Amino acid sequence: MKITRQKHAKKILSFYKNNFNIVPPYNVLVDGTFCQAALKHKIQMKEQLPKYLMGEVQLCTTRCVLKELESLGKDLYGAKIIAQKFQVRHCAHSTSPVSGTACILSLVADDNSRHYFVATQCSQLNSLCSERDRILIRTGSGQKEDFLSAQAQI
Ligand SMILES: [Zn+2]
Repeated sequence: MKITRQKHAKKILSFYKNNFNIVPPYNVLVDGTFCQAALKHKIQMKEQLPKYLMGEVQLCTTRCVLKELESLGKDLYGAKIIAQKFQVRHCAHSTSPVSGTACILSLVADDNSRHYFVATQCSQLNSLCSERDRILIRTGSGQKEDFLSAQAQI
């Protein structure tokens, strides 16, 4: 299973490299749902994601994602601690924060010029990113080996 998934990721990544010149370090925008899932599966994103994507990874998030996690209280405290360690990317909502989903969507809108990958478990964000042909990273529910799956419309 692990090999299959890595092959799948490799295929996607080489497509993006050849067609859009997307090369490491990969910018991975992580939302609160993904942090929560990583926590649940006891996965160290910093270690696992570069292995899975076979290249250097820059984990990042936004202030809106952090605000949202903060507002959700103690159930999401662990996820917030994880997200706080990531690089915070600038968004246009510094005076009036929006939902994590809306914020991440705004960063990958138009031509996604920063070549963000989106790491999420949110089904809404998932389908909206799929519509826009963004590279998605999701978590599985099974073993550690099944943790990650990348998806792209190619
Ligand atoms: Zn924002």
